[in-house]
Amino acid sequence: MCGIIGIHSKQDISKDLYYGLFSLQHRGQESCGIATMNEKIKQYKGMGLVSDVFNANTLNELQGNIGIGHVRYSTAGGSNEFNSQPLVGSFKKGKIALAHNGNLINKSILKERLEDEGLIFHTTIDSEVILYLIARYYKKNLIEAIKKAMKFIKGAYSLVIMTEDKELIAVRDPNGFRPLLLGKRDDEFIVSSENVSIDILGGDFVRDIAPGEILHIKDGKETSYFYDEKEEKSTCIFEHIYFSRNDATIDCQNVYEFRVKSGEILAKEFPCDADIVIPVPDSGWAGAIGYSNYSKIPLKEGLVKNRYVGRTFIKPTQREREIGVRLKLNPLKEVVEGKRVVLIDDSIVRGTTSKKLIDSLRKAGAKEVHLRITSPPVKYSCYFGIDTPRRRNLIASNNSIDEIKSVIKADSLAFLSIDGLKQSSIKDFKFCKACFDGNYPVDPVIL
Ligand code: AMP
Repeated sequence: MCGIIGIHSKQDISKDLYYGLFSLQHRGQESCGIATMNEKIKQYKGMGLVSDVFNANTLNELQGNIGIGHVRYSTAGGSNEFNSQPLVGSFKKGKIALAHNGNLINKSILKERLEDEGLIFHTTIDSEVILYLIARYYKKNLIEAIKKAMKFIKGAYSLVIMTEDKELIAVRDPNGFRPLLLGKRDDEFIVSSENVSIDILGGDFVRDIAPGEILHIKDGKETSYFYDEKEEKSTCIFEHIYFSRNDATIDCQNVYEFRVKSGEILAKEFPCDADIVIPVPDSGWAGAIGYSNYSKIPLKEGLVKNRYVGRTFIKPTQREREIGVRLKLNPLKEVVEGKRVVLIDDSIVRGTTSKKLIDSLRKAGAKEVHLRITSPPVKYSCYFGIDTPRRRNLIASNNSIDEIKSVIKADSLAFLSIDGLKQSSIKDFKFCKACFDGNYPVDPVIL
């Protein structure tokens, strides 16, 4: 998962990009980068959080009127500085910078073909394949080159691209797997993965970039091109379940409302005889509000979160994840002692978080711990930008619900149904739920 942002303005926007990326930090914490330009493209990137990588000096060096930025959580390609983005390269038209959120499913074959032609890759990320394809198909018209390149790449991609021709381009794949939105602040354009960056910069949300759209911004004007209107839209439902912030609205579906509704439906589908509802902070909060609303079981803060620890799942190794859970969440003994607890989390993937939390709640004196999950069991790998590539890592892929209950030592365990997930969203909201049912909107075995 990653977060991307692009700004087109007539004034210096280096600090705006910094703040915009800061607001997208939840989408990736391994590395980040900014590329800006007035006449020439310059860039700065590094490993770590936005606030660690940039300082007043680096931002000063990055002054420019047009720019793009990226925060990264690796799904394809290792976690190292080489693979951080934006990627900057040179082609016939001059320099070009690109930032990508998503995952290509045919990267390997495309890469092999390009290597057969003699190309040398500088990174191991699929985004570089996109950059090369655009360069390869560029004759005189960049939009035509992008359209051509997009015909070859398959999978999930939201892109922001900038060239030394003072243009900013946003692209969203024909399925619309990953979000991408357009905002405006006076005559400036902001393109971002989530509306929070548009909000904090004092801009107004304009619209979602449509699946299959190329939005071109130059000289204060925007033009849309469509290169594929055939596909059925399928926004990744995990954006709503977990990734995006509560204040995000993607393809007209607000994330907070979706999560509260999921909690309510879960309480209806799987009631529980208990004394208190407690959320796994932060992503379990809205679902727990919904569960408590419907069940009338009081909502309490039973786990205290260390605000300085990032997302536990968004850590590359299992050992780091386990330490991360303990560092991040500590039970409030005074709340849980002697109580029958309904613990609400948004999902179970490997089972690391729930196992550790149930154990620590029991140690803190909880009488019973009933786990309710506001999404169905994750049984299938995601090839479209979520870090669950191996089925063997998914606890629900190899175990029944009863077996999972025993592994994590819960008194009871239940998951929201797929139908409940549909009911939680607005009418006609089309989403990819392949991680639950294995129905991939684009066949991952297309090679
Ligand atoms: P796990 O501990 O592996 O079962 O992961 C579940 C926890 O990580 C939950 O508390 C979620 O909030 C969070 N989570 C679920 N899915 C993902 C994902 N694909 N990427 C990052 N974090 C996730």
